[in-house]
Amino acid sequence: MSDISVLGIFVADISFSGHKIPSVGETILGTEYNVGPGGKGCNQAIAIARLGGKVNFFSKIGKDDYGKLALETLKKNNIDTKYIVQKNDLQTGVAGILIDKNSGKNAINVITGAPSTFSFEDIEDKTELIKRSKIFLTQLEIPKDVTLQCLKIAKENGVTTILNPAPASSLSREFFKYIDYFTPNETEAKFYTNISINNKSEARDASIKLIQMGIKKVIITLGEKGLFYNDGKKEIYLDATTVKAIDTTGAGDAFNGGLAYGLSKSQPIKECLELANKVGGLSTTKLGAGDSMPFLKDLS
Ligand code: ADP
Repeated sequence: MSDISVLGIFVADISFSGHKIPSVGETILGTEYNVGPGGKGCNQAIAIARLGGKVNFFSKIGKDDYGKLALETLKKNNIDTKYIVQKNDLQTGVAGILIDKNSGKNAINVITGAPSTFSFEDIEDKTELIKRSKIFLTQLEIPKDVTLQCLKIAKENGVTTILNPAPASSLSREFFKYIDYFTPNETEAKFYTNISINNKSEARDASIKLIQMGIKKVIITLGEKGLFYNDGKKEIYLDATTVKAIDTTGAGDAFNGGLAYGLSKSQPIKECLELANKVGGLSTTKLGAGDSMPFLKDLS
């Protein structure tokens, strides 16, 4: 049995670095490109595995070159590939990423491919594994009805659930009943609350609004400003760790992986947040998404 189950997508990240992110209609001469593993679910699973966590990863890919990259990536990171549904007639997902080399900031267009057809039948035979996990972690990159069903199964079986609500997408009230930890970044938090977050006090306002909507524990990640946690009783604000960020792609995924790992070890929330903050920060010091997830040894 694995401690953590992750449901989500794999995509091949094709990233272009340059001195800026080009504006609409503009062409720039960039500096380098990279093809590597991505997809929030896969990145989060890699982050957990590299920290030493036991993880099940549930996903769907095509039988093409990027599908091969998905399986190689999982094997290389000691993640079992037997829960991956692979289909001949579907494409593995890809993401086009534009990176500003000076700030590490990015703009991303994701084509999810095979997982856009993800249905409950693709995961029905694996729900026992979800039920027996300590933590269930997912995002909003596969069809929402499947996400909701899996969150419900997890929650009804006493599993701690984390929804990383990204990319931002409207959620029915029913979702909130089955979420223990809700982990938007600033942009996503604004989408769900209509509150722009530029400082700690606005992060607090947004977290209160989310709690009023029925969410139990809110963690708003604030990029280079750190994070804000609120569970209605306790509030924790942590500054980001000081790092030389070169590519922030996947920072949120590293953070969520670190959080899931900490919670699976029953660490107190403050320690889980400190760990996630460190894992998120370290991931920005390397290019790529899946490949930038730090190892346990990098944390010391
Ligand atoms: P996302 O990648 O989803 O947009 P954030 O940008 O909020 O998420 O980053 C997630 C977490 O990663 C932050 O809360 C912080 O812990 C860490 N992080 C992100 N950017 C930096 C940075 N420039 N310096 C240090 N830590 C960072």
